[in-house]
Amino acid sequence: MNSHLKLSEVETGESVYIIFVKGKGAFRQRLGEMGFVKGKRVTVVKNAPLNDPIEFSILGYNISLRRNEASLIEVSTDKIEGIHDEQIHPEFLQEAPEINRQDRIIRVAMVGNPNSGKTTIYNYASKSREHVGNYTGVTVSSKTATFKVDDTVIHLTDLPGTYSVSAYSPEELFVREFIVESKPDVVVNVIDAANLERNLFLTTQLIDMNVKVVVALNMFDELLKLHDHFDYLTLGSMLGIPFVPTIGARGKGINKLFRKVIDVYNGRETSQRYVKINYGTEIEQSITRITGKLNSGKTGGYDGNLSPRFLALRLLGRDSHVEDLMMNSPVYESLTITAREESARIEHLMSDTVESVITDARYGFISGALKETYKPGTLNRRKVSDGIDNLLTNRYLGFPVFLLFMWVMFSATFNLGAYPQQWIENGVALLSSLINEHMAAGSFKDLLTDGIIGGVGGVIVFLPNILILFFFISIMEDTGYMARAAFITDKLMHKIGLHGKSFIPLIMGFGCNVPAIMATRTIENRSNRLLTILINPFMSCSARLPVYILLIGAVFPSFKGTLLFSIYLIGIIMAVGVALVFKKTLFKSSDAPFVMELPPYRLPTIRSVTKHMWMKASQYLRKMGGIILIASVLIWALGYFPVQKTEKQAQQTSSVQNSYIARIGKTVQPVIAPLGFDWKMGVCLITGIAAKEIVVSTMGVIYSDDHANSSVSLEQRISASGEFTIPATLSFLVFTLLYFPCLATLTAIYNETGSVKWPLFSLTMTTALAWIASFITFNIAVLFV
Ligand code: GDP
Ligand code: MG
Repeated sequence: MNSHLKLSEVETGESVYIIFVKGKGAFRQRLGEMGFVKGKRVTVVKNAPLNDPIEFSILGYNISLRRNEASLIEVSTDKIEGIHDEQIHPEFLQEAPEINRQDRIIRVAMVGNPNSGKTTIYNYASKSREHVGNYTGVTVSSKTATFKVDDTVIHLTDLPGTYSVSAYSPEELFVREFIVESKPDVVVNVIDAANLERNLFLTTQLIDMNVKVVVALNMFDELLKLHDHFDYLTLGSMLGIPFVPTIGARGKGINKLFRKVIDVYNGRETSQRYVKINYGTEIEQSITRITGKLNSGKTGGYDGNLSPRFLALRLLGRDSHVEDLMMNSPVYESLTITAREESARIEHLMSDTVESVITDARYGFISGALKETYKPGTLNRRKVSDGIDNLLTNRYLGFPVFLLFMWVMFSATFNLGAYPQQWIENGVALLSSLINEHMAAGSFKDLLTDGIIGGVGGVIVFLPNILILFFFISIMEDTGYMARAAFITDKLMHKIGLHGKSFIPLIMGFGCNVPAIMATRTIENRSNRLLTILINPFMSCSARLPVYILLIGAVFPSFKGTLLFSIYLIGIIMAVGVALVFKKTLFKSSDAPFVMELPPYRLPTIRSVTKHMWMKASQYLRKMGGIILIASVLIWALGYFPVQKTEKQAQQTSSVQNSYIARIGKTVQPVIAPLGFDWKMGVCLITGIAAKEIVVSTMGVIYSDDHANSSVSLEQRISASGEFTIPATLSFLVFTLLYFPCLATLTAIYNETGSVKWPLFSLTMTTALAWIASFITFNIAVLFV
């Protein structure tokens, strides 16, 4: 058998050694940073149930790659030596950049690999409740908290998890710019003690950046459990970085960690030194030549924010962001010319890209350093975890288990949620009737009962459902199952140009688009995340269900199930169609590689799950409550005014006819007439903009005209009204499904994308598509009826 083959051809359970990674820029760089460098051993763990992606184990952690990505990696069945595994001792630098700050506030930034426990430590230290999860990419933006340790004020920023600061992903660039521009006094590098080799990669970059670092050696409990022997004090003095063991999940070592930070800041820490990692003669020569150019032009452009060494390394790697940073420097030209020459020289010499040469050298340095200080124990960290995983992502059981879990989640959300929902409804009704009894009739009373209590009550009733949904989601995230769900569904999602990670947010959309859009935070790739957000409103949320149930019941009593199913299906088809079109137009460039870490399963803590639930719930109440309150008052007012000064009974029926909202409905009628709608239907749709459940309550008001007698149900009133013909109803159902995401959803889109552009885009696109789809539906239906 040929000993050289592609990683995709290796059988499950076999181990091979990496020779070379083909492929381009970001993908290759990312794999390199995650340890896919020459000489490292990879084991094929398993194929996903649909045969793609594949799970591998490398450097003691598991990662998933798509089959075609794995085919870019050349491997050998025979052992291969790494680039330079020999012991390299770093040099200590004499000059240390001084930071002179007068105030007693220490600004600390927290960096580290995804899942290393940054947020856990951040929450513990600051007593806040940010979301932790056993899932990559939970923190996308930065969070800041201020707290006191002894008498020192610490201003702590939790940054997104990254494997490096090479600026190949938005998170990496974000972290790097934060360090360069905000110049934190001390950087806390959180590393997973059970995953040292890969985590130390980022540490080597921080060393090159010449920032003051304290390492939080987190997950120390796992290191102890595995009986690994790690002489972190020696490694620390070798790297010039103090190492503090921590157990974030139990809050251990965190005070010590911040005391160390204070010592480093005050210059009292003896192990803190600036060191230079030696990358070998050739690269060192290039660095010297590039930094030589820099020193001669110290006067302009180069402000010294970036350490010369880091700058030279980045320029050598043709980092365009760093090149742009130097644009105004008087030495810009000679600098870039020298850097390009040096890159070419190295590439010619090593017949590989400079980035890979540097990455290899970093890993070489790390293996050397660990050889002296670290002895792995005999226990396998992943034994139990892999056992569970073999069941949960099994070829035959993977999908059934996943579907079962989804089914349990949704039935619990709706069925279990129905009870507290009923209590809240009763409470709201009680409150209304109390006000009805005890307040004098008038506009203010109507505002309270119909506008405020009606509108806000309509939102609060969904709170139990939201809580239950998030209970399940947080269990999925905290245990690590979420990453497996993405693993098994990736092949399906890839067909529409998305990633397995988009699957859960889309499924959640059937419940409510608002938390679903918030859940897209787990998608690292920005354009994939945007696309997932934009197609989410096509997933028919539960608020639309009452409309379907009412109309189908009134007009098509004998086709209930089929019709309901078809509506959901139309939504899914629209989502797929829009995704395909956008992938070819708006979001053309990026097909994100499926390099995803599969963390070991962990037991979720009650504390983290409840915190997570509560955080989501309060977010829901705060952000959505405000919008819904304003909207329902507005809609109520538009339907209420101008009031006719006739007796009470007549007011109910005639006010809607002559209200502002009726005028608006009549104004838009020409636009919606081709869809088969009259002005009343128009009014229902307009009010539904605030929230889709309002469509039904508006119908309740509007279709009370002919039958003041309330013993006739709304369903009967609608079927008697004559306006809901078969074609018009079908068209109305399609329109309700597709048009205008509700205001809460638009707010969520705004919050998540940070710009008004996307909510505007979303409402225009969905409404236009709704119009077209309804037009087609109506006209086809007319032919058959
Ligand atoms: P981040 O991505 O770096 O912000 O990581 P998180 O703070 O979200 O934590 C990832 C997972 O690791 C969560 O499930 C935590 O509960 C868990 N975790 C954090 N610190 C420790 C620790 O010291 N020991 C163990 N065993 N688990 C931890
Ligand atoms: Mg985090």
